[in-house]
Amino acid sequence: MTATRIDGKAFAAALRERVGGYAASFEEAAGRKAGLAVVLVGDDPASQVYVGSKGKATVAANMASFEHRLPDETTSQELLALVEQLNQDESVDGILVQLPLPSHLDEQSIISAISPDKDVDGFHVINAGRLSVGQSGFVPCTPLGCMMLLTDRLGDLSGLEAVVIGRSNIVGKPMAQLLLDANATVTIAHSRTKDLPGVVKRADIVVAAVGRAEMVKAEWLKEGATVIDVGINRLPPEPGKEKGRLVGDVAFNEASEVAAAITPVPGGVGPMTIAVLLRNTLVAAHRNAGLTAPEDL
Ligand code: NDP
Repeated sequence: MTATRIDGKAFAAALRERVGGYAASFEEAAGRKAGLAVVLVGDDPASQVYVGSKGKATVAANMASFEHRLPDETTSQELLALVEQLNQDESVDGILVQLPLPSHLDEQSIISAISPDKDVDGFHVINAGRLSVGQSGFVPCTPLGCMMLLTDRLGDLSGLEAVVIGRSNIVGKPMAQLLLDANATVTIAHSRTKDLPGVVKRADIVVAAVGRAEMVKAEWLKEGATVIDVGINRLPPEPGKEKGRLVGDVAFNEASEVAAAITPVPGGVGPMTIAVLLRNTLVAAHRNAGLTAPEDL
């Protein structure tokens, strides 16, 4: 079997296009643009790149982008004051504090200070709680993006065996919750799981969110499984090359011989994250303006 490549890049581009169209209609209806504020503390190079691309994508989707770049030595009080100012600002619908924060800042207390109704990353404990009890809130962007790719590919997930490898608060746990809400039978695997290959072998759906290059092998997979690879890992550079290749948590080539469908890295889950962030921001904007968000957002 040669697996279908699940094209997250194309799916994300279509979602961004849709968000852009609805954002223009929102502006007409509300008399203002939907707005996303992104806060970056310090000069981590990867975070600088992420924040830059989020800003560009926001503007390209007809929304307002507010960037706040603060120095590394920003105190907790200063950051909390900014978050509070953004909570009060009616032109800001979504607030994202780029993680990781410098080590002197406590991520949990900063995230807790964001208004849950502007927490478009879905990391606030209120939104985690809403997801857990089935109330509408904001769901973290990466797992929601994975879910969109899965339902687009498989339709109804009822009764399917799903194995999520990884139990982080930002990917593994919300992913498992979304699969459970979709009536899959869900197993969450992690570093203490015994016989991981045997657990994965049961799965119709495998979501790998580990951070270990090409860990999931072809022989772990059930024939015909659908594989969503969240991992982003850089291999050591080959001789003569400056940078190593980016790979996922799944050995893509060999897994493609067994799976029915698989996301590539790059070009699978990665592009979905920003697209879903824009989607969440526009949903927040509708709620904040007392408008109903379009159903297919
Ligand atoms: P974390 O490091 O927070 O979590 C990793 C999880 O993997 C943990 O639950 C850990 O288990 C588990 N794990 C580690 N080693 C093993 C092992 N040998 N066998 C089974 N499970 C193991 O990572 P994140 O959830 O934040 O991210 C996971 C990956 O996804 C990373 O590669 C990250 O770069 C990528 N990512 C990609 C995004 C995108 O936009 N595409 C967005 C977010 C993340 P335990 O809990 O027991 O320690």
